Amino acid sequence: MVNVDSISIRSIIFTFSLWPRIFNILWKANQFYFFCILVLSISRGLMPALTLIATQQVVNTIVLNNQTSEFNIVLVPLAVFVSLFFLNELLMIFQMHTSTVYQTYLSNHVKVEIIKKVGKMSLPNFENSLIQDQLQRSQQEADFRPYEIFQQILSIITGAVTLVSSAGILLTWNWKLTLLLGLVPILFFFAYLSLGKKEFLIHYHRVPNQRKSWYLLQLQTRDSSFKEAKIYRLSNYLLKEYRNIINQFLKEDKFLANKRTQLSIVSQLCGNIIVGIIVFYVAYAGFYGDINIGNLVAYFSAITLTYTNSQTIVWDIVDICKNNLYIQQLFFFLDLKDGHDEGALTKDKQTVFFSEIETIEFRNVYFKYPATENYVLKNVNFKLRRGETLALVGQNGSGKSTIIKLICKLYNDYEGEILINGISIRDIPTELFYKELGVVFQDFVNYEMSLWKNVGFGDIDNLNDENRVNDAIEKSGLTAFVQTLPKQKNTQLGKYFLDGYQLSGGQWQRLAIARAFMRDASLYILDEPSAALDSVAEANIFKKFGDLVEGRIGIFISHRYTSMHFADHILVLQQGEVVERGTHEELLEIAGVYSRLYRLQMNNLKKAK
Ligand code: ADP
Repeated sequence: MVNVDSISIRSIIFTFSLWPRIFNILWKANQFYFFCILVLSISRGLMPALTLIATQQVVNTIVLNNQTSEFNIVLVPLAVFVSLFFLNELLMIFQMHTSTVYQTYLSNHVKVEIIKKVGKMSLPNFENSLIQDQLQRSQQEADFRPYEIFQQILSIITGAVTLVSSAGILLTWNWKLTLLLGLVPILFFFAYLSLGKKEFLIHYHRVPNQRKSWYLLQLQTRDSSFKEAKIYRLSNYLLKEYRNIINQFLKEDKFLANKRTQLSIVSQLCGNIIVGIIVFYVAYAGFYGDINIGNLVAYFSAITLTYTNSQTIVWDIVDICKNNLYIQQLFFFLDLKDGHDEGALTKDKQTVFFSEIETIEFRNVYFKYPATENYVLKNVNFKLRRGETLALVGQNGSGKSTIIKLICKLYNDYEGEILINGISIRDIPTELFYKELGVVFQDFVNYEMSLWKNVGFGDIDNLNDENRVNDAIEKSGLTAFVQTLPKQKNTQLGKYFLDGYQLSGGQWQRLAIARAFMRDASLYILDEPSAALDSVAEANIFKKFGDLVEGRIGIFISHRYTSMHFADHILVLQQGEVVERGTHEELLEIAGVYSRLYRLQMNNLKKAK
């Protein structure tokens, strides 16, 4: 990634090498509209000079013929003048229409590219806050930045056509004055460019705080945090933090606006002095009859057109340089390498034959999370075969969920070996592997959609297969519950949208389990399935889970020792290490960590009764 703080004028101009890629995006967004806008812009660029020539013709025809001919002689140049006027309006209307539609095409296209990229990202990349900043920058720019660049390119094309045609009129009379007109904007080019760089850097470094302000806003406006914010009276505190950030942004924006205003005043003043001198010179020549009156009018307009267009072109170039820097951020994001995707596999490895999961083996596995110091798994060893169920037990933070995440191929940078059917998990094609996996994570998702989709998402290829959805509902013991809902399977769940029916935490969790059961997988994993379940529902779920994993592999994490007799093997973890292993009965006999925790829980249960 480029060190943005050392951006030089040269490197800004170098970003023009991105243009082929920008044009590729513009072209792919919608070819028809892209082409129409180009043609319309060039046509509109010609209009001012054509109108100017028509004006010159009208005035000269009147001045030269008003004593000698009929008025009819003026009709043709007049008709040309009016037609050009009308044509210009018409072109403007079409240009506005095509631009509006094209803008939406373009912004949709870029947004879709970003979403596609996020879908392909690995979890370590996704959890990296610097990459999250980059994602935020890209999303922020997606809506308007490519379009803005396109508009600036068009504006340069239109401006250049107008400039060349109007400067052409002046050049035929006095080329030195024409050059002088273009000089001022060019002189101020570098001052504007350095201001553009300053603006980019301020916006670039603002992103982490922008994400923070977005998060603070969410905390105050989303239902998941609304209750706590109210009861703990956090609103004022959170609002104050939010205000601090947005006030800092305001301060920076004011600073930039002031700088821009100062620069504009100085450059306009210099420009106007030069325009004043030239206008004076033209008027002088007209007064003493060196040029006739029609040409005088045309030169006056040509002076204004040449000056304003050369100024606009310079500003547009500055803006494009600035926008190139922003668009570069989007490209950085889209080009991020994911060491985790299929591209990382060698060609022969990609064809590894893989059907069902027969065995899972951890051999001397060590793991620490990216950008952290300490190992959270140390020398973990176990082997599971088809037909077996494993329970992971241990206190919070002992590494249970991390083992699940490694089995799910969410992290790749572990030491030791993780083997599936005797093959390194790194060499198994992810998509095929995921087809064999039914998982309920601790932080499963509540989809604010129909109950049908909440279950059907477990096997997206069979989302519309009603029998399979019913089957998954049945396997998770929800059939009777679904009948009580207002629209049964088609009931909209959650509270975000109209007619939403809110479920309890436990009911959502059972739906997440149904979602995993929707798959015809050979490995099922439940990470704390009983966390939000009452004891009846828990017993029910484990009974169903036992039936489901018959002849397959099952892994679950639970803090309830009542569910442990469903497991063939239990691993007891402490600070990332396996400290005990065996069946429920064997572990009770050892009289170690497991039996101590078991008795503690049983005593608590007895006391509670
Ligand atoms: P358990 O499931 O046993 O409660 P975890 O496997 O979730 O424990 O966590 C084990 C350790 O890993 C904890 O110390 C936790 O702070 C750390 N950890 C968990 N997730 C991440 C992550 N995404 N990045 C960095 N550290 C993490």
